[in-house]
Amino acid sequence: MIRTKVLVIGGGPGGYVAAVRAGQLGLDTVLVEASRLGGTCLIRGCIPSKALIHAAGRLDDVKRAVGGDTLGIAVREPPSIDLARTVAWKDGIVDRLNRGVQGLLRSAKVRVLEGWATFSDAKTCTVETGGGVETVRAEHVILANGSEAASLPGLEFGGPVISSSEILSLDRVPERLLVVGAGYIGLELGTAFRKIGSEVTVVEARERILPNWDEPLTLPVKRWLERAGVTLHLRARVEAIERTDAEVRATVRAGDGTITRLRADKLLVTVGRIPQTRGWGLETMAVDMNGPFIRVDERCRTSMRDVSAIGDLVGEPMLAHKASAQGRMVAELIGGARRRFDAVAIPAVCFTDPEIVSVGLSPPEAAARSLETVIGQFPLSANGRALTLEAGEYGGFVRVVARRDDHRVLGVQAVGAHVSELVGEFTLAIEMGALLEDIEGTIHTHPTLTEAFHDAALSGLEHAAPEVRTIQAVGGGF
Ligand code: FAD
Ligand code: NAD
Repeated sequence: MIRTKVLVIGGGPGGYVAAVRAGQLGLDTVLVEASRLGGTCLIRGCIPSKALIHAAGRLDDVKRAVGGDTLGIAVREPPSIDLARTVAWKDGIVDRLNRGVQGLLRSAKVRVLEGWATFSDAKTCTVETGGGVETVRAEHVILANGSEAASLPGLEFGGPVISSSEILSLDRVPERLLVVGAGYIGLELGTAFRKIGSEVTVVEARERILPNWDEPLTLPVKRWLERAGVTLHLRARVEAIERTDAEVRATVRAGDGTITRLRADKLLVTVGRIPQTRGWGLETMAVDMNGPFIRVDERCRTSMRDVSAIGDLVGEPMLAHKASAQGRMVAELIGGARRRFDAVAIPAVCFTDPEIVSVGLSPPEAAARSLETVIGQFPLSANGRALTLEAGEYGGFVRVVARRDDHRVLGVQAVGAHVSELVGEFTLAIEMGALLEDIEGTIHTHPTLTEAFHDAALSGLEHAAPEVRTIQAVGGGF
């Protein structure tokens, strides 16, 4: 039997960050991972998808220059892609980062057990490792088991019906790709596969794409999809499919009852993810649930003493950086620090074309809380750097939402090429409690996209009452 201070289940961005921090704090720590270190994010999520999206973008740039003239660049022959080689390049990045995680755990003196953990009570599990069954008993348990792709009845995964994991490792470009669900994964990967040559059709149950984002942010993406020839079926569902090994024949029913029959080589189901709560003895641990998720408080404590849960297992947003922030916090709490998880500024990025970012409150979210706001917006088409990068196409902008009374920044959103790299500044502004005047008073580098944030803040101040501006100006300074 292994006795340890801290036992972490899951080597994703939640679990491995928790384990590394616990180890750095000198806590005796064991981490159990059934698959590969890095979890969903590194092995079959964030990193592989962004690699593929990048490769697809490079190919698309070259394609646009064929026979024509883009930025004065003309390409004679149409470019081609060897997807197997692209996937091998992506796998190289994954392997390198996986080794990086192994190295971090080793330096922090974390003991890693490879195998599936099954709990018999809240503090004891057995792990079926290659070398036999190990029993581990811990003082503190951190559950970071993550999530898995949700499936749909009648569209169970298998053969040509695939999840995001399989599509990231295809060796051939599917001629016809049918995507069910126009959320993050469906549109990020649908866009990438359109760029690498698939004919892409998207079926979305709700009335618009990316229904969890406020609509103005999604319109540039919709324009891109339409111009790129992606077929969208909105307020629609796949009612039935017939599948062979080689293809799927799908019947799509729209909200008005219209039926469309489609054929596809691959059907990608991306209708959300569900927490991984089955098959490892959760029922023996007597923790309270919050719907399908494990219920936790603001310190990620479950209802069972000294059992914490983090990441996708505990609910939305199901994002890697949220999992890591919670993991770090829980390790520090066990180490004796006083911490709590403040979810005010968890940024989100959708790596579509163009990209969308959001942090803090959007205008509809602020309105729903009856907050009086000023909103400043600046179009990327008026930003010099955006023009040199073609980043303002499709109607991109930066938008800042601030309280009307004291101009405190509540939220920042943007849509445009490359805007994912701006989100750090947006998040810092909210985290530091910045006012619009602080953004105004910060000298932004020219020419960069960050100037659009400055200009959005200026636009917000122009909309604000002049007397409030005077108060802020007098009260400001160091
Ligand atoms: P996971 O990363 O899911 O890790 C859980 C680990 O626990 C797994 O490795 C699993 O094998 C292991 N495990 C589970 N049960 C057991 C057990 N009983 N015994 C042993 N091991 C076990 N998020 C972003 O922030 N940005 C992105 O760009 C992004 N892109 C994504 C793209 C795709 C295609 C997908 C699918 C997801 C993406 N995400 C992205 C979401 C992100 O991957 C997750 O939010 C993140 O991985 C959650 O981390 P986690 O540590 O909670 O769980
Ligand atoms: P999602 O929640 O983003 O989108 C699911 C979509 O499927 C929604 O638009 C929903 O209306 C639709 N849908 C649901 N049932 C349907 C049905 N029967 N028919 C048609 N449409 C249906 O989920 P996802 O795209 O699977 O991604 C899962 C999670 O992974 C995300 O919520 C996010 O947390 C994470 N993720 C993040 C990133 C990123 O940060 N860039 C990228 C990919 C995934």
